[in-house]
Amino acid sequence: MPTAIDDRFLALHPTSSELHAEAEKLFPNGVTHDTRYFDPFGLYVDRAQGARKWDVDGNEIVDYVMGHGSLLLGHAHPLLVEAVQEQVGKGTHLGASHRAEIAWARAVLDLIPSAEKVRFTSSGTEATMMAVRLARAATGRSRLLRLRNHFHGWNDSVVAGAAIPGGSITAGGIPNEMAELVTVVDQHNAAALEQALASQEFAAVICEPTGYSMGTGPLEPAVLRMLREQSTATGTILIFDEVVTGFRASEGGVQRDVGIVPDLTTLAKILAGGLPGGAVVGRASLLDQIAIPKGADRSHAERVAHPGTYNANPLSSVVGTAVLQEIAKGEVVPRANARARQLTAGMNRAIRKAEVPGAAYAQASIVHILLGADVPSPEDDLTWNWGSAGPQATVPSTPPAVLWPFRRAFLNHGVDLIGMIALVSAVHSEADIDQSIDAFAAALSDLRRDEVL
Ligand code: PMP
Repeated sequence: MPTAIDDRFLALHPTSSELHAEAEKLFPNGVTHDTRYFDPFGLYVDRAQGARKWDVDGNEIVDYVMGHGSLLLGHAHPLLVEAVQEQVGKGTHLGASHRAEIAWARAVLDLIPSAEKVRFTSSGTEATMMAVRLARAATGRSRLLRLRNHFHGWNDSVVAGAAIPGGSITAGGIPNEMAELVTVVDQHNAAALEQALASQEFAAVICEPTGYSMGTGPLEPAVLRMLREQSTATGTILIFDEVVTGFRASEGGVQRDVGIVPDLTTLAKILAGGLPGGAVVGRASLLDQIAIPKGADRSHAERVAHPGTYNANPLSSVVGTAVLQEIAKGEVVPRANARARQLTAGMNRAIRKAEVPGAAYAQASIVHILLGADVPSPEDDLTWNWGSAGPQATVPSTPPAVLWPFRRAFLNHGVDLIGMIALVSAVHSEADIDQSIDAFAAALSDLRRDEVL
């Protein structure tokens, strides 16, 4: 039975519905990215500016997808637009080395503590693929240790045991032989992690250092410290996947925040400021496995090969440099964090007032929302509170029967999320946040009216 939320959703989005019907003939599910799947259809967006976007039906939306986390300075920021405009006429692929890639690498080295050298890739998925390969080459070991539900993109090496907010990545098409090379351990099972590392079988251990799914399941820094110590003791390469947290958790990522330096770090998203791009950074000796030894050629058997048509492409290089230099001034991250705290506290107030089960909790400028599950109230209205279950537990997730009606209701009131996450930028104003909190309260009241919550 369609509810009032559903009726409103259909009434507000007729053109998106039509486009979706056409797209279903062209793309699996009608979408071009797993997280753009939406029940019954996702919105088609026409343009975006700052913290807002406008869909093809003319609805104005406060956006917390923010380029899947790549737009810490918001949509179409003047720095980005100017950098692209200046570069595009000079060439989008120079088929050669260029000055902009040097400036980009310098900007990364200035911010990320573990970065002694850099290799640019076209995406985060390529970055984690290369990081695992560098670790395998350096150690001569094949096995990979990963933490359950931590997400590292979609390359074969890292898919087993992964999850995205709202659902698991399945292992279809991954040969058993690949999956068998991966051991998955719960993130707070320190004893199992230590035991696995002690076997000295693993080339690398890889993790999202804030915890799984962009920190949906927060990870305590003590686990990171143990991983650092035990990796060093057992000759295992420690990889921090900072694709989301790099330049966001702090200007220097989680690693600067907690003072733990991994051997390799993967970066993407904010790195390229909203254009495609990724990087592996880390110890020079590990990166230098890509180098062609003197007197050899690039087919040299011992080296790690790395072509890639769009590596360090000029457009991504100039935008990435401009954005990272702006972040380096030190005002962008604190501003985004302050807005995220404002949003989180406001959502928790609304949840309490509506007397519905749930909570919002923040890590830096990432706000997680959980509805329809009994969870302890967040500490200070901000931080995930493990409650009596303690850190062994995983965080419950919003059941699909609540998630989709809630997302539709929130969109009906003009706010978009990625899954159940709000990625807050430095250009969300206090007024944007207040409007979003009001919309959230209105969406909760719709859910109560429609007897979803
Ligand atoms: N690692 C993490 C932690 C991510 O969140 C993502 C993407 N959301 C990736 C890797 C993959 O990056 P990309 O989408 O650029 O391939």
